[in-house]
Amino acid sequence: MNFAIPPMGLLPALDDHCLLCEQPASTPLCHICLQDAPRLPDLTPRQGSGLQTAHITTLYAMAPYQWPWSYLVQRFKFSGCRAAGRALTFGFRQRLLEQIEPLPRGIVPVPLHPWRQARRGFNQAGVMAAELANQCGIKYYPNLVTRRRNTRPQHQLDASQRRGNLHNGFDVECPVALNHIALLDDVVTTGATINAVAAALKAQQPSLQIDVWALTLTVNSSAMGS
Ligand SMILES: [Zn+2]
Repeated sequence: MNFAIPPMGLLPALDDHCLLCEQPASTPLCHICLQDAPRLPDLTPRQGSGLQTAHITTLYAMAPYQWPWSYLVQRFKFSGCRAAGRALTFGFRQRLLEQIEPLPRGIVPVPLHPWRQARRGFNQAGVMAAELANQCGIKYYPNLVTRRRNTRPQHQLDASQRRGNLHNGFDVECPVALNHIALLDDVVTTGATINAVAAALKAQQPSLQIDVWALTLTVNSSAMGS
C-alpha cells in the first residue's frame, strides 16, 4: 500500500473522548477499550523468539501489532493524529511502566531515515519518547543516535550486507556518564533495527545498559518467554 501523504506535522486533537469508541473519557482511551485491547504476556521475549536482541538488556513490549494498536500506530504515523500517539503512550504507561524498575536515565527514539522524517514532518518514536520522558521525569535524548544519510537502501542488499548496512548506518554521541537508557520504537518486527542501534551504542559505550520500549511487537505472542 502506498501511503503517499504529504508532510503535515502533528494535527491537534480533542482530549475529551475515547479515540476508539468516542465515548466521553478523560484519557485518550477509555478503560473499556483499554481493557479490551490485546496485550502480550508480561514477560520479555527469550531465546528462540526469533527476535534479534543480542545487544539489548531487556525488551519491554506493550502489545501485539493488532487492532486497535496497529490502527493507532498508522493513524499517528500516516495521518499525524496526535491523539493516536497519546493513546499509545497512555497504553504503555498503564500496562508496563510500573513493571519497569529501575527506570532508565534517559529515553532515545529509534531514528527515522532523514528523508522519511522530512517527508512525514516528525518522527513518531521521537514524539512518544519525549512524552514518556516528560511523564517519567527522565531525560529525552532526541539526537543521541542519528542515521547516516548515505546508508544504502536495504532492498538492494543481501542478508549479510543488510546486517552490515544497519550496523554501520548510525552515528552515536553518547555522554560518558550515561549508563542506562531506553530505546523506544513504535513497531518492532525482527529486532534488526533496534539491535543495530544498540550495537552502535555499545561500540561507543560497552557498559551501557540498553532496554527497549516497544509499543507493539509483530512476532507471534506464543514465542514469548514464560
Ligand atoms: Zn473507548
